[in-house]
Amino acid sequence: MPLSIAVIGSGMAGLAAARILKDAGHQITLFEALKGRGMDSHSIDFEGGIIDSPLRVMNPKLWANTLSLATSLGIQMYPVRTFMSCTWLDDDIAADQRETWLTTARLPYLNLPVIKNWQGFQWKKVKQYTAPLAKGFVQYQAALNAFFKLPEAEQNSMSLAMFMNRYPIEPLFWHGTVMPVLYTICTCDAQAMSNWPAKPLLIFLQQLTKGEPLLRMHGGTPALVEKLIKDIEIISGAAVTKVFKQDDGKVLVENAAGYRAEYDRVIVATPTKNLDFLDHQQFAGDIQLVQGFKFAHGELVIHTDHACMPSDRKDWSVLSYHMDRQFNRQAFTAWLNGLEPTLVGKTDVFQTWNPTFPIDETKVISRVHLTRALVNDQTVALHRELDRRHLQSNRKVFFIGSWSCDGLPILESAVTSAMRVAEILGAHAKFKGMQPVVQVDPNLGYA
Ligand SMILES: Cc1cc2nc3c(=O)[nH]c(=O)nc-3n(C[C@H](O)[C@H](O)[C@H](O)COP(=O)(O)OP(=O)(O)OC[C@H]3O[C@@H](n4cnc5c(N)ncnc54)[C@H](O)[C@@H]3O)c2cc1C
Repeated sequence: MPLSIAVIGSGMAGLAAARILKDAGHQITLFEALKGRGMDSHSIDFEGGIIDSPLRVMNPKLWANTLSLATSLGIQMYPVRTFMSCTWLDDDIAADQRETWLTTARLPYLNLPVIKNWQGFQWKKVKQYTAPLAKGFVQYQAALNAFFKLPEAEQNSMSLAMFMNRYPIEPLFWHGTVMPVLYTICTCDAQAMSNWPAKPLLIFLQQLTKGEPLLRMHGGTPALVEKLIKDIEIISGAAVTKVFKQDDGKVLVENAAGYRAEYDRVIVATPTKNLDFLDHQQFAGDIQLVQGFKFAHGELVIHTDHACMPSDRKDWSVLSYHMDRQFNRQAFTAWLNGLEPTLVGKTDVFQTWNPTFPIDETKVISRVHLTRALVNDQTVALHRELDRRHLQSNRKVFFIGSWSCDGLPILESAVTSAMRVAEILGAHAKFKGMQPVVQVDPNLGYA
């Protein structure tokens, strides 16, 4: 029997749940606090091109459900090369004089990652960079082999900090090349990252270095959101302020604009930091549980200041990392023109996450505050308990989001959490297992 279902939050999780349940014949209303749709609310038009904020990339293995969902909606993908550069952030050196000590590429035939920028043989550079990086690479591979031979329980209980202590790896390799990639994925500070379970991060890194290209969606996030939300009612621009189970078995939902309606089921698809809208008595146990999940906040600065890139343009690649020599301070930048075909040939435009160096304010296009779920040694147990509660008979209110599913808190976990709750409500995700349609974009190319 079709149910009336309110979905609170139109990020990836809420939109995916809404789409699956709508396609299964239910009556869906989406509630969103921001104007428009949550997932693409920060996307901007730039010189006729699209800036997605944050810009999102996906790996075919690690984002299987998200890519299947997008493919089922007719969205095509294109591959992007995510080469990186690493630049020292020395306070006494001007931005245009900073030393870029690493740039990467891939070998054309073997598709192995290689260091690109050291042409000509220089003993000094070999000693300073090549030798420690090569040693670190060997140590890292040995560490991975050893780690994945450990009993499952030991793997699962090891944090990233414990992994680093147990398997010493050359700091230049670990802090200079591995941690920046993890920092890009986790977008949280080093302290929070060290508490993450090592296993999903290491699996993630292994997949990323296998040479399979990362994918982006044609039309960016807005194209996906358009398809996800088609024919679904959205009430946006006012936060939900009340969710209350009534005696007649329905759940009342009310927003800050005074809109109120009753639903058979409610799916909460928001971060769990602020759940004031849930009735405190009725949902005391749920609130206590989901507030065990942790979140971090950060700022994504969209700008046109070249200070975030290597001073020599020939060293530019789509990911630019800046770090101090003690690896205490770091920032990463995505060069959007190298990733988004509609920005090719336009003014160079960048996204820098939590910049740790000055960015010319006159070149800032926007500053976006974003929330990111964190993972620690409690997270898996909290997931199990949430799953258990979701299966309770007579359950009316469910929780989904990138934070609510094992693995890394990314789009994939948001979609997977939506699929799980939809399944509990009897709606099977028909797109599961669909292979993405990947076409090289002629504007970007793929070499
Ligand atoms: C800088 C950065 C880069 C990232 N890059 C990638 C990437 O490349 N690939 C990837 O897979 N992931 C990436 N992520 C992570 C990914 O964006 C998130 O995991 C995902 O968007 C979370 O989706 P969600 O639906 O769980 O939550 P959210 O996107 O947080 O959605 C929650 C929604 O609920 C709304 N809301 C909150 N409270 C209320 C209320 N009371 N009433 C109504 N609405 C409410 C919010 O406005 C919001 O729209 C990145 C994250 C960051 C910060």
